[in-house]
Amino acid sequence: MKMRNKVIIVGGGISGLATAHRFCELQRGGSRPLEITILEAKPRLGGVIETWNKDGFLMEGGPDSFISEKPAAQELSARLGIASEILDTNDKLRRSFIYKKGKLIAVPEGFYLIAPSQIRAFLMTPLLGLMTKLRMGCELFIPRRKTLGDESVAGFVRRRFGETLLKQVAQPMIGGIYTADPEHLSLGATMPQFQELERRYGSVIRGLLSRRKQRSKHAAQTASGPRYSLFLSFRGGMETLTRAVRDHLPGVRVKISSEVTGIHRGSEGWNVTTRSGEFFEADALCLALTAHHAVPLLSGVAPELSRELQGIPYESVATVNLAYHRADIPHPLNGFGFVVPAFAQRRIVACSFSSVKFHGRAPEGKVLLRAFVGGALHREVYALDDQAMEQAVREELRHYLGVEKAPFFSFVRRYPHTMPQYQVGHTELVNKIRGKLAAFPGLYLAGNAFRGIGVPDCVKWAETTAESMHQFFEKGDSPFKDVRETVPLKG
Ligand SMILES: Cc1cc2nc3c(=O)[nH]c(=O)nc-3n(C[C@H](O)[C@H](O)[C@H](O)COP(=O)(O)OP(=O)(O)OC[C@H]3O[C@@H](n4cnc5c(N)ncnc54)[C@H](O)[C@@H]3O)c2cc1C
Repeated sequence: MKMRNKVIIVGGGISGLATAHRFCELQRGGSRPLEITILEAKPRLGGVIETWNKDGFLMEGGPDSFISEKPAAQELSARLGIASEILDTNDKLRRSFIYKKGKLIAVPEGFYLIAPSQIRAFLMTPLLGLMTKLRMGCELFIPRRKTLGDESVAGFVRRRFGETLLKQVAQPMIGGIYTADPEHLSLGATMPQFQELERRYGSVIRGLLSRRKQRSKHAAQTASGPRYSLFLSFRGGMETLTRAVRDHLPGVRVKISSEVTGIHRGSEGWNVTTRSGEFFEADALCLALTAHHAVPLLSGVAPELSRELQGIPYESVATVNLAYHRADIPHPLNGFGFVVPAFAQRRIVACSFSSVKFHGRAPEGKVLLRAFVGGALHREVYALDDQAMEQAVREELRHYLGVEKAPFFSFVRRYPHTMPQYQVGHTELVNKIRGKLAAFPGLYLAGNAFRGIGVPDCVKWAETTAESMHQFFEKGDSPFKDVRETVPLKG
């Protein structure tokens, strides 16, 4: 048998890059001479992670931050030597707003996506009416769900906290993260921590209060070392991460503008062809792509696997960065931004006050705002052309923030079919995909379609994939290692 030594990774977003990086780390010092190639369709690496600098502004097209609760991105940064570049949010204004009846109202302190963990702040907030607060209080007495199995986020919130909380708070807060319709969004795949709280404490609120107590006790005992805020970025923007990974891939061949158009099984591995007619052989092949990009590549060689991947739908989103003089915005901008409930029938999903959230995003006296547009509940806004989309966003900002003046520049960036929708039953579907994949030794799947869409989720999954690939080369082990579900509890 010939010696296995060729790896191809298709896709140069954070998933493909982190897979390559972890694989290189694991191979370091090994005696086997490996050939690792990344093939990326676009003329740049990074995928949806894109940062631009213009006239002293620092703008993000895709993700503008990552959460500190899931440590994979921070741990990777530390190994890359860029931990000192990590940027905390502005600690004086750590709060955000929800749109309600023409006003932006602060999310009460300690409110965790669907439930409060600080009773006083919850009771005092004008965000929720008395009846909604009373209904939410009943959550403490609502019995656990008897049946096991997945349910929709909307079903869960409605059952435990009532319709109004779902419409006014849970939908916009969750919608801002997943750009999904909560009626279809899988609770088990996106927020298993709430399922767990219900199961363990019989009530989400009771569980959050109890965990908060435990955490403050623990914090008091271990009050040392740096404490990060929930959201983090890098001084130089999110591209700092993908650039640093790229700079730490010794010996890896990176081919940009190389769209993979065909995958075939060779006599001893995988054959890969690109649109420009290049041909590559691989012992291990990792597709670090959105599921819908992997579907046509696998349809000939693994039709059943390809069909299962088709079951993961995607939504399109856009961001609009707008640069203003501070004096042109009447609103105090005393927070990180706001989200808008879909039932209000407005045209943006959310808006970040980017230069308030993170230092260094705008020059002195200027402000950078970033609107989030599209997703499952606002497809009609994504369908507008760039000019109409910018106009729609400006009209929205006039409504929320009183901005009459035009921005001195704006920047529309589109991400078609990039947001996977983890629908009810997603975890089962991923297990099915894993089962089908097991029939193809040397074939791997990374990317945001499976175990989480955030940057830390993608890094973690990519690193797990690299570890499986490493085992494949070392021992010829099964290519799709069973991975523990690790979505830590927040709040
Ligand atoms: C607008 C937006 C905002 C977001 N905000 C946040 C946030 O604030 N925090 C957070 O944690 N996450 C956020 N996310 C989610 C997160 O950024 C993504 O899930 C993650 O970056 C996806 O990385 P990836 O490498 O899996 O996929 P991608 O970045 O999509 O990379 C896949 C790559 O594969 C390439 N490719 C496709 N087909 C082929 C082919 N046939 N041959 C070769 N190459 C191919 C593509 O060109 C692309 O470069 C956001 C996403 C978007 C779009």
